[in-house]
Parts: sequence; C-alpha cells; structure tokens
Amino acid sequence: AAKAAGRNRVRLFTADLRAAAQHKATVATELRAAVADGQLVLHYHPVLHLPSGRWTGVEALVRWQHPRRGLLAPGEFLPTAAQHDLMTPIARWVLRAATRQAAAWAAAGLRLVTSVNISARDVAAGTLVADVHEALTESGLPPELLVVELAERSVAEDVERTAAQFAELRRTGVEVSIDDFGSGFSSLGQLVAMPAGLLKIDRSLIAYPEGRRSQAAAAIAAVVALAQACGVRTLAEGVETPEQLAMAAELGCTFAQGFHLARPMPAGELAGWLAERAPSAVR
Ligand code: C2E
Ligand code: MG
Ligand code: MG
Ligand code: MG
Repeated sequence: AAKAAGRNRVRLFTADLRAAAQHKATVATELRAAVADGQLVLHYHPVLHLPSGRWTGVEALVRWQHPRRGLLAPGEFLPTAAQHDLMTPIARWVLRAATRQAAAWAAAGLRLVTSVNISARDVAAGTLVADVHEALTESGLPPELLVVELAERSVAEDVERTAAQFAELRRTGVEVSIDDFGSGFSSLGQLVAMPAGLLKIDRSLIAYPEGRRSQAAAAIAAVVALAQACGVRTLAEGVETPEQLAMAAELGCTFAQGFHLARPMPAGELAGWLAERAPSAVR
C-alpha cells in the first residue's frame, strides 16, 4: 500500500509538472502574440535631477496588458520571455516605442532623457547596437536623449562583451547606465572598468532598514565617491521617504527616482503630471 501511495504521489507530481510546463508554454505563445498585437505598454517613471530640482528624464518600464489577466508587471512575464527567446523581440519593441514617445515629447517641447532597460540576453544576442541604431533612425530621437540600462548582475554575465557594446553605444552618443548597482556582488574592479556614465544605486541601499541609517549612508557615500573618481554620475533608486531623498541629495547623488517622488505612469499622464510640478516646488 505504501508503495502504491508512493507511485501515486509520483504520478501526481508528474501531472503537476506537466500542468506547469503547459501553462508556461501557453504563456509563451500568448506573449509572442502579445508583442505582435500591441499588448505591451510602457509606463514612465520620472527622474529628478537633484542639483536643479528639475525633472530631466523618465525610465520606460514594460507592462503586459493581458486580455484576461489585466496589467502584468515585468516580473510576471519576463522570466517566461527569457526561457522562450522572447527577450530580444521585447527589447526591440521597447526601444522602438520608447524612442518614438521621447521624440514626440521632444517635438512638443518636452526634452526628457529616456531610459530603456535591456537584459543580458540582448547583449548575448549581439543585435543590441543595431537595434538601438534602428530605433534612433526610425524615431529621429537625438542619441543624447537615450539611455540604455543594464543591471549589474547582467553586466557580470559577460563583462567583455558588455563593455564592447557599451563603448559602441557611447560612441554613438547614447548613454549607458548600470542598474541595481550594489546588489550583484560583482567585482568592483570590473565595474570600474565599464564604459558607463551612470550608476543607479540599488533600492536595497537607499531604502535602508530601521536603525541602519548610518551604515546605509556610508555605503552610498562610498559608491558616490567611487563614481565621482571615475567621472560617473549616480542615481538613487527606490526613494520612498523624504528622509531618503534628503540623504541622497546630501551624499551627492545627481539623480533620484522612487515612489516618494512619483509612480510609474502611462505616457498620456506624464505631461500633465509634470505641468503640475514647477521645478521650484520640488525642492
Ligand atoms: P528596474 O529597472 O530596477 O526598475 C525599477 C523597478 O522598481 C520598477 O518595477 C519600479 O516600478 C520599481 N520602483 C521604483 N521606485 C520604487 C520605490 O520607491 N519603491 C519600490 N518598492 N519600487 C520602486 P517594475 O516596473 O516592476 O520593473 C521591475 C524590473 O523589471 C526592472 O527593474 C527591470 O529590471 C525589469 N524591466 C522593466 N521593464 C523592462 C524592459 O522593458 N525590458 C527589460 N529587459 N527589463 C525590464
Ligand atoms: Mg532600470
Ligand atoms: Mg533599477
Ligand atoms: Mg532596482
């Protein structure tokens, strides 16, 4: 009886695995169609320039407007995308949509430096530089209004290849940024050698736990000093309180981003949101 029960468990387990695999395959099929059918949308998260108190940029963040499941966050579908070779088609779509939007804003007199997130898959695919060029050419966006962000842990996957592609992007005038800096336990030596113009200090350092303010401040100050020595600017990400904003400004971060300042929003809401905030009101 025990043996039979064991067999049943194995059978159940196999059935679960099969169901999970089936679900993933369904999601992948739907996602492939979603990219083509215009179900992906971008929300834009404002970036504050601390020295001037001006909103100088936005970060494009992808969402999936799923016909039945509603608006899905990237964490809910990018892992599946990565398993089914869909990262690069998504990156291509995001680059196109974000550059087109930024060019439209610029044409309307709203000059916003727009960031796009890419993945290690895009670097590995070897098509990133060409895809960026194509998006810039199609949209007519000046390259200095585009930033490409790659997470520190993704940089670490292939430092040499990443450095080469970063250098090429920067030669064309596109800025490059290392995202989630301080979360990946990467080699500092390798990071210092990266041709990037911006370090985005990870939320885990900015949103420090209760009672750890001085440790967080020391860590942020160290990153800012390192960045300054390399001629690189810093952005404090995940700013959720006025105290965190003040700390980022005091420690010399150039930019800040976070829910305390703004929530990511659809493109259509951004101009109105900015209009309600005179630069002087920010500080
Ligand atoms: P990220 O690039 O580090 O983006 C910041 C994420 O943190 C966003 O979540 C944003 O909504 C959230 N966030 C910003 N400020 C705060 C804050 O003050 N508190 C908290 N708790 N969260 C904050 P989102 O949009 O869910 O994106 C998650 C990650 O998904 C991004 O992290 C990025 O790695 C990835 N991602 C987003 N869009 C794309 C894309 O178009 N392509 C690729 N390859 N990855 C993307
Ligand atoms: Mg980012
Ligand atoms: Mg980030
Ligand atoms: Mg982050």
